[in-house]
Amino acid sequence: MQTDSIRAAIRDVVDFPQPGIVFKDITPILADAKLFHDSISLLCETAGSVKIDKVVGIDARGFIFAAAVADRLGAGFVPVRKMGKLPWKTHQTAYSLEYGEATVELHQDAILPGESVLLVDDLLATGGTAAAAVELLEQLGANIVAISVLIELSFLNGREKLGQHPVHSILTY
Ligand code: AMP
Repeated sequence: MQTDSIRAAIRDVVDFPQPGIVFKDITPILADAKLFHDSISLLCETAGSVKIDKVVGIDARGFIFAAAVADRLGAGFVPVRKMGKLPWKTHQTAYSLEYGEATVELHQDAILPGESVLLVDDLLATGGTAAAAVELLEQLGANIVAISVLIELSFLNGREKLGQHPVHSILTY
């Protein structure tokens, strides 16, 4: 499957949401039925032949891809959310952003010990967000099969924060 057309659709938005950031806008992919379908297919392939029990998506653009991947793989979907959004009992992890700190949460009963999980987000930058999600999943005893992202900003070395877990990216910059 060709990734060139997916790459070509990503829109670089300079100085968003703050000066110095080049934001990778994936909404043109979502709006194109074939590009969105192909993106989901490529993300599904990263699971290999492993039966995935739960696909975990990271708030908020990660949800879009992870939910579609979950449906395609016949797996459940689990959200990792920003602080204060989940209604039930949660585990929480704080992590560093480029400026300041953020906290993400996961429902305590979202994953059963030993369940096979695919963690999905739209983009891996410094890796702080994904590493926080990994920490939450490890607390629940999840078997993290892989961490799969559509876009990896490899110059930020995010995968170094993700330990031994396999990291798959469809497009690398
Ligand atoms: P990080 O924790 O630095 O790996 O940041 C990853 C999260 O922030 C992902 O959920 C992305 O959606 C978002 N993000 C970070 N940098 C960018 C960027 N340049 N363009 C689009 N989204 C980004």
